[in-house]
Amino acid sequence: MLQPSDASTYSTRGTPAGPARKGKSVPSQLMQRGKSLPPVAQNGDLRGYYRRLLEEFGSQGWWPAETRLEVILGAILTQNTTWRNAALGIGRLRDAGMLDLVPLSATSPARLQSLIRPAGFFRQKARTIRGFLRWLDEAHGGSLDRMFSQPAESLRFDLLQLKGLGPETVDAILLYAGGEPFFVADAYTRRILARHGVIAADAGYHEAQQSIHRSLDRDATVYNEFHALLVEVGKRYCRRREARCGSCPLQSFLPGMAAV
Ligand code: SF4
Repeated sequence: MLQPSDASTYSTRGTPAGPARKGKSVPSQLMQRGKSLPPVAQNGDLRGYYRRLLEEFGSQGWWPAETRLEVILGAILTQNTTWRNAALGIGRLRDAGMLDLVPLSATSPARLQSLIRPAGFFRQKARTIRGFLRWLDEAHGGSLDRMFSQPAESLRFDLLQLKGLGPETVDAILLYAGGEPFFVADAYTRRILARHGVIAADAGYHEAQQSIHRSLDRDATVYNEFHALLVEVGKRYCRRREARCGSCPLQSFLPGMAAV
């Protein structure tokens, strides 16, 4: 589950407690503070959620990384684990000088596994990273610039063909490293939307993503922020086994409640 939690570095402290953290992030143009809110949608839907959450929590400042490669590695390492564990793996890669395509591509599978071990599923994730690097080399001459210059829909299709890269990881790469407007419809998003009757309880990733894409303009800055804000709601209030609706900023958007 994607949940980067500290804006200046890959934190190992786990879930953040406060709003609006500052620091470097990628790409920087996605982190514009004070960007105008989108107008309220005619159907009064998810834009209201977005405005309410931004008012409550402030800008979240995702994704915490200094390069696109860090975003990509973070998106892979956080699969099926907490961000804290993924951050430990990123920290070890940084300390080893591996947050660079050249040494990372040259390192042995065993060394890579060892470095990312704290992130869990380290053999599988090392295979995914190496597979991505191989494809990047073959398809784009090892250049992230060339990769991201590909039309976004086509790049998304290609990335989804790579072993170990599912839609949540691919969309995180496209949104947070590429600045492309693909909403990351993770488990937090699906749980919140399902509890509010926006999607069915058993809706999948694609359906949840489409509900966001239909409701909000295709704007990477808004998708970036809204995803981070929904994660915050999921962590604080809309937990898997307990919905703390009484204190949740989205309570007024529950079916049958009057939205403010
Ligand atoms: S905790 Fe309740 S009000 Fe908040 S998002 Fe979940 S279902 Fe909605």
